[in-house]
Amino acid sequence: MKPSAPFHLCATLCLSILTGLAASRPLLAQPPAAAPPATALRDLPKTRSYELRMLYLEDPRLPSLTSDQRTALYAKIEHLLATWYGYKVRVRETGQHPLAAYYAAQDTIFIQQRFRLKTIDLDLAAATTPARLRAVIAADFAPRPLPQIERYLNAGPLSSQPQAVKIAEQQFWKKLVELRQAPLADGMPFFDPASARLNSYAHAAVLIEHLTEADFMLTNSMLLGADAEMPIYVIARGGLSTAITTNNPRSPYQAAVLAGLFPFLSDAPVFVRERGVIPKDELLDVIATLCLHELGHFFLRYAEHYDHPHCVHVAPPGLNYYTWHQAIRAGGPCTLPHQKVTRY
Ligand SMILES: [Zn+2]
Ligand SMILES: [Zn+2]
Repeated sequence: MKPSAPFHLCATLCLSILTGLAASRPLLAQPPAAAPPATALRDLPKTRSYELRMLYLEDPRLPSLTSDQRTALYAKIEHLLATWYGYKVRVRETGQHPLAAYYAAQDTIFIQQRFRLKTIDLDLAAATTPARLRAVIAADFAPRPLPQIERYLNAGPLSSQPQAVKIAEQQFWKKLVELRQAPLADGMPFFDPASARLNSYAHAAVLIEHLTEADFMLTNSMLLGADAEMPIYVIARGGLSTAITTNNPRSPYQAAVLAGLFPFLSDAPVFVRERGVIPKDELLDVIATLCLHELGHFFLRYAEHYDHPHCVHVAPPGLNYYTWHQAIRAGGPCTLPHQKVTRY
């Protein structure tokens, strides 16, 4: 992470445990003029109880969770927060909206933040993007030891940083194209150029930074593309950010979360190959583990971690969410020390 960006899953901006650099993904730009001044994250005491307001945004083209499934998911999240983190939390869904209509209703924010959006998102059609992407990858990789890069790229042995960047670039473009083309039930590809902003990391991050009607935005879609703040696990997935936790100056939590469930709900060939099939009776538990990771940023203020074995605070390498979930649950809460952030 860099000194003040949201956690991509997670895509993010905090301190990397190994490198001492920011490890989660804060946005590059300044908070909006009307927002309260940015302040350091306060600890959230475990001696009181909390309400976590969920907003469910649905793309009707994509597989989804029913209302009953979401209710069951929220109960699982409540249980995990109590037993793993010691937080008493009631999860309450405050609304359900069509994804595109919700984004359309937020146009004022997107217009107000248009320069930030341009700074963060990399336009894949622009001639300058390959060079910018290379610079993004090189900057993220520079402080990382080569064995860590090998693990995320599932490649190696790597002999140098330039070689690692080159391999990452190749993987990025190949996977991005394949994920964009993931077929839907109607045979159409996932990515719809006419609705590109629905899959934009920058738009999502800006949106939840302004969110006031909820604390956690859950969608059945996914964030996919190139942006200037991708950490290694997003780069290695081809630009897929499963979730974001970022600053929200209007929130009593000073934070907001977004998670996109398409990589869990889809059985498109790319997911089956990279992730395996998630048994139906375990799907909600796998999603709950993802939410637990994000809520570790949110409630515990934990940084993104990279090298703890089977730790919920380490994002899954690749798309391997199912085995990641299984290993975390089998191991139980990680007993190693975790680093906190003062800003996402
Ligand atoms: Zn994370
Ligand atoms: Zn750990």
